[in-house]
Amino acid sequence: MPKKIHLDVVEQASSLRSDGSRNHVHPADVKGRFVKARYAVFALLIAVWAALPWIQIGGHPAMYLDVASRHFYLFGATFNAQDFWLVFFLLSGVGLGLILVTTIFGRVWCGWACPQTVFMEGVFRRIERLVEGPRNQRVRRNAEPMGFDKLWRKTLKHVLFVLAALVVSHIFLSFFVSMPSLLSMIGSSPAEHPTAFAWMAIVSLILYGNFAWFREQLCLIVCPYGRLQSVMTDRESLVVGYDAKRGEPRGKAKDPNAGDCVDCKRCVQVCPTGIDIRNGLQLDCIGCTACIDACDEIMDKLKRPRGLVRYDSLNGLEHKPKRVARPRLLLYGAVILAWGVGAFFALRSHTSFEANLLRLRGAPYHLIEDGQVVRNLFNLHLVNKASEDASFTIEAVGMEGSEVTIGHPELQLDSLGSREIAVYIDTPVADYEVGSRVTLRVTRRTSEDTETMDTDAALLGPRR
Ligand code: SF4
Ligand code: SF4
Repeated sequence: MPKKIHLDVVEQASSLRSDGSRNHVHPADVKGRFVKARYAVFALLIAVWAALPWIQIGGHPAMYLDVASRHFYLFGATFNAQDFWLVFFLLSGVGLGLILVTTIFGRVWCGWACPQTVFMEGVFRRIERLVEGPRNQRVRRNAEPMGFDKLWRKTLKHVLFVLAALVVSHIFLSFFVSMPSLLSMIGSSPAEHPTAFAWMAIVSLILYGNFAWFREQLCLIVCPYGRLQSVMTDRESLVVGYDAKRGEPRGKAKDPNAGDCVDCKRCVQVCPTGIDIRNGLQLDCIGCTACIDACDEIMDKLKRPRGLVRYDSLNGLEHKPKRVARPRLLLYGAVILAWGVGAFFALRSHTSFEANLLRLRGAPYHLIEDGQVVRNLFNLHLVNKASEDASFTIEAVGMEGSEVTIGHPELQLDSLGSREIAVYIDTPVADYEVGSRVTLRVTRRTSEDTETMDTDAALLGPRR
């Protein structure tokens, strides 16, 4: 007899009651291969994130965004405000990468690498379980009136939440003020650095409110990425799903007419967003894989094959043929290739220094020496964009007949240091020709390399 497919669909997510009020989710603990792998990934991501401000590359932290001075250090590369256009390539690359990954692997970002998940499951939920015990105890205690046991556990949990929020916000702040500055700020009065203190307090408050109370609501209500899932995925994208053909109709393990789902609801109890994976692909599913481990545990006990809930495509879950190459993927691949070519040339044009010859404001030129000589005044704007200090020499090229005065023909600039250098060009009026230009050759030297750049500007003078 063919199996009857169970088609019950809940009208709303389980974190919402029918009257629209919040139903706080208390996910149960689960053990399994995905949980283990996820905790390992969370620990690695948190460790790398926390280490970045401490690791020095080329004399600077691996990641340091000095917004106040507009100096940015990323894994040994240095950028200043003039490089802001490169942010376009960075953000568009991250966006395109995320679209491609989502199309192939579904919400793998949400379940494995999103900071909301990493800190919620890797830190705050663990604290909660440690202090308040497993789900059943937590739910029972929450329903009880306040007593000593409930009071001390709740107080301890929230104190630990605040401490964790403070640690996370301080590490977050160190990306913007550097670790040595942060450590000296911690040792001094907040009145000496009110802005940094205010940022730290605001970020800590937001983190505490989010991880102690708002939780899965951020994924369900606020996160735009979650809302865009349906346009990024297709029937071949990898999702966490329930094999309805195998599982339905639900029934007791001993019922010969029942499918493999014994309706134990273990997959629902472990879900951090409170949904039932058996209702099909839902926007509220963050792909955390907890229901896979939960159901595998049940299948192991029943001595049935694992994978009733599993990573698979919608076609795979419906036992239909799978297709790896598809137009959407080819299109995304072409767009990413175009992005890669653009980013390659953009990064190639990123030089270790900048030299721009700019005319001084005011009169376009001056006639001196009884009108016999025309003087053009410029400022050479020099920026050392590299992560190491460098010496610079400046010389005029091909300016026979003109006298070139350079304020500082040799100078030293710190990493990301800049300097304005006055440049005067005196040309006899008799030699001046309309359309003539001045070219300055700037050479940058470090212990390791030498780089040269020319910068030029038009010379102005009286028409003859
Ligand atoms: S349905 Fe499963 S994978 Fe999706 S959020 Fe819930 S437990 Fe995680
Ligand atoms: S854990 Fe598996 S067997 Fe239990 S209700 Fe969920 S899908 Fe069915």
